[in-house]
Amino acid sequence: MRSHQDVVVIGGGIIGLACAYYLSKENKTVALIDQGRIGSGASHGNCGLLHFSGVIPLCSPGTVKHEITRFLKGTSPLYIKPTTDIDLYKWLIRFAASCNSSHMTGASTAKSEIMRYSFDLFNTLFETEPLACDLEKKGVLYLFKDEAYFEKYAQTSAFLDQYDFGAVRLDRYAVRELEPAVNERVVGGWFNDHDWHVRPDMLVSAWKKCLAGKGVQIIENCKHLDFGIKSNRVVHANTGIGQLSADTFILTTGAWSAGVKQQLDLKIPVQPGKGYSLTMEKPAVCPQIPCLLYERNMVATPWQSGYRLGGTMEFSGFNDILNKKRLNRLISGATEYLRDSAEHVIVEEWAGLRPMTYDDLPVIDRSPLQDNLFLATGHGMLGLTMATGTGKAVSDLVCHGRTDIDLSPYSVGRF
Ligand SMILES: Cc1cc2nc3c(=O)[nH]c(=O)nc-3n(C[C@H](O)[C@H](O)[C@H](O)COP(=O)(O)OP(=O)(O)OC[C@H]3O[C@@H](n4cnc5c(N)ncnc54)[C@H](O)[C@@H]3O)c2cc1C
Repeated sequence: MRSHQDVVVIGGGIIGLACAYYLSKENKTVALIDQGRIGSGASHGNCGLLHFSGVIPLCSPGTVKHEITRFLKGTSPLYIKPTTDIDLYKWLIRFAASCNSSHMTGASTAKSEIMRYSFDLFNTLFETEPLACDLEKKGVLYLFKDEAYFEKYAQTSAFLDQYDFGAVRLDRYAVRELEPAVNERVVGGWFNDHDWHVRPDMLVSAWKKCLAGKGVQIIENCKHLDFGIKSNRVVHANTGIGQLSADTFILTTGAWSAGVKQQLDLKIPVQPGKGYSLTMEKPAVCPQIPCLLYERNMVATPWQSGYRLGGTMEFSGFNDILNKKRLNRLISGATEYLRDSAEHVIVEEWAGLRPMTYDDLPVIDRSPLQDNLFLATGHGMLGLTMATGTGKAVSDLVCHGRTDIDLSPYSVGRF
């Protein structure tokens, strides 16, 4: 292990991998550390959508009412465990306060920029590096069972048109023609051809191997504990296996990022938003295109190598308990929309923690208190999609002090 690095990246999820990649391309010596295995956090079992068209933030007008309605109908993917954690209640209140049209427009404009940037960078990445990850560029199909929601989505698509991410309306016959795995209960669909998908666990392990080949030091089972600080600079990171010194430190610890508050007096209001997925062998009637099951807020993603159902949003703190009821609801949800036999050979049951900010925008910034500490976290539901844009922006900030995209919407000072 080198005794001193140019950069230590703390947290080996998709965001840490992307930061390490672009920094190593700038000829920096980099160590990437993780408390467990690289890619064992949220980046492992997610739905794998490169959902560039997903620019609209979760906190939009009507979200709170919509969730309450779904909760009363028993179809809500959201669960909030009763808790004494004041920070979660504050987070929820701020989330509700962000559900307005001015935030929706501002956040969508900001997100559209990083999405487009990430799209171009993913294109280059997949052309340049041999990353085997079942990449397919087939778009995403939104499926609806409820006529009213289906018709109302026209407004969403018109809104997305402003950013050139609009979708195409498909009636009940057209949707089945495009995707024969859709069942009779589906009243229509909206097809968005701007999106791609990958198998995230494969991408993570291929990217890790690629980085190791470029000389990045990968250090697993290395938990970051705190920082050694002199004046306004971090001089080393204390970890469970010793000290790591470097010129620059990047914090990419996903859902765990708020933990630095105690030492650094730095507010990063990221809450863990737990989601579940079921990975299985491909069923006999398998969709060809990733399907977003609108009323259930869940995704069915097909790959050459398998099939995954994923969704739900649970605020229940830090835990990896696999709630069987929630896992089963992924299967029952899928059978509501798809000609799915529900007789699956399950390969993996999984839960992961999304790093959720209350305004549904990531944090990509230099720490206001330590000159050589940078933050890249809070990517919520779409961290895989924003990974390349984030990694490149962080690398440019570290190496050149400027970025191709405007990072002001992602400043940590907004909290
Ligand atoms: C069910 C589900 C479906 C999803 N579907 C999609 C999708 O289709 N498309 C999409 O774009 N996004 C999706 N997401 C969101 C996406 O998974 C996350 O936004 C993304 O993985 C966040 O990446 P990250 O690197 O910030 O966090 P993580 O992948 O969680 O990585 C953070 C890493 O930091 C490490 N760490 C934490 N604390 C320490 C410490 N003290 N010391 C050392 N290491 C530490 C952790 O071990 C972890 O490996 C989904 C999420 C879920 C749960």
